[in-house]
Amino acid sequence: MSASTVMSGASPTEPRSVLVSGASFAGLATAFWLNRLGYRVTVVEVAPGLRRGGTPVDIEGETIAILKRMGLMEAVQARTLPPRRFAFKDARNATLGDMAHHPDDEAGPRYEIHRDDLLDVLCGAIKGDVELRFNRSIVAIEERPEAVSATFSDGSRHHFALLFGCDGNRSNTRKLVFGDGEQFTHFMGGYFYLKVVPDTGLLPPNSSEVFAVPGRMAMLNGYDDRTDIGFGFRTTGEIEYDYRNKDQQRRLISDRFSGLGWKVPDMLAHMGGDNDFYFDRISQVRMSTWSRGRITLVGDAGYCVSPFAGLGGSMAIIGAGRLADALARHPDNHAAAFHAYEEGLRPFVEQVQERAAIDSVQMLFPGDEAEMAERDRKLAMGDIGV
Ligand SMILES: Cc1cc2nc3c(=O)[nH]c(=O)nc-3n(C[C@H](O)[C@H](O)[C@H](O)COP(=O)(O)OP(=O)(O)OC[C@H]3O[C@@H](n4cnc5c(N)ncnc54)[C@H](O)[C@@H]3O)c2cc1C
Repeated sequence: MSASTVMSGASPTEPRSVLVSGASFAGLATAFWLNRLGYRVTVVEVAPGLRRGGTPVDIEGETIAILKRMGLMEAVQARTLPPRRFAFKDARNATLGDMAHHPDDEAGPRYEIHRDDLLDVLCGAIKGDVELRFNRSIVAIEERPEAVSATFSDGSRHHFALLFGCDGNRSNTRKLVFGDGEQFTHFMGGYFYLKVVPDTGLLPPNSSEVFAVPGRMAMLNGYDDRTDIGFGFRTTGEIEYDYRNKDQQRRLISDRFSGLGWKVPDMLAHMGGDNDFYFDRISQVRMSTWSRGRITLVGDAGYCVSPFAGLGGSMAIIGAGRLADALARHPDNHAAAFHAYEEGLRPFVEQVQERAAIDSVQMLFPGDEAEMAERDRKLAMGDIGV
């Protein structure tokens, strides 16, 4: 059966045909579980392919348990990165404080994997079982008691039993179902840029370095073959910019960071002129409910914890795993399943969001002299809670 037949064949008389919007961690993991639960799954992704790039993803705690249940932990472990040393630097490159993560930390095993490698593992696990449509987005959603109708960017319209919004912190599904996304966005007072480039030699492999002055932070992650170049800046309110205009975003970074010391001039020189980078405001998504009728949100779309939490990828995988458990427990009652999913996951999400909003922001990204002094005091005491 061809891919298009599957989509156009979906109708209210096929109650187990479901739609996932977004093909990143939340979308791919949700699609995996839905397929395993016997649903016929279509995934639509607005980009022409998987959206690659970004900092590595931490795999620990419940994420490990879920990846094991998915049968993917071995594949993940085969691609995990060597333990990395993380150091706070001053303008002369002296180390103010550092720490190392080990896979066998006493807090339990913890691994890191490149974002792209995890995408490949998840995508490989659904290949052939799930219909994956790139260059496609939902433009309208109509919910009726017996089905959800989705109209797509190509003008076609199809019916699904359930719809899962896994389309990131600017979620299209959230906007179409719950209204303007801004009301759910909690701006955390800053912006973050990340570009992955071939090894620059700016720092040793398997290490991370952070340099900060009040309101601005520069970060380098070194691996065997590549370097992450990261910049963050704090603002009192949101700044005007077009999140689709990459030239403007590049200029924003070079304007704000030119003239800064440490390794910043070299980092700016390595930014290049292409559009292959990540830039976004640092924000969380906080909603009083993630579900409406036959539609629910997974990952950043419903409960983005922000880059400060360092858990965005894990949270998406945990969310998909918890949702699958709830659907398995309530196979014929999506309302009960969505309720159980929210009730079970919400306390953990809120705890992570709270921690990111207070501790991580000030530690990684001090906004003023007072926060710098507090960070330095913590570093001197060896209290490096990031
Ligand atoms: C390219 C990229 C780089 C990133 N880099 C970092 C980083 O360096 N540090 C960090 O902390 N976090 C980063 N993130 C965010 C981090 O990956 C997420 O917090 C985490 O992956 C949560 O996963 P998610 O699947 O919920 O959302 P996301 O990973 O954001 O994925 C959402 C997916 O939905 C797709 N989508 C968006 N709109 C539509 C639409 N209208 N229709 C269909 N699909 C749509 C997107 O293209 C994307 O593939 C990055 C995200 C992306 C997409």
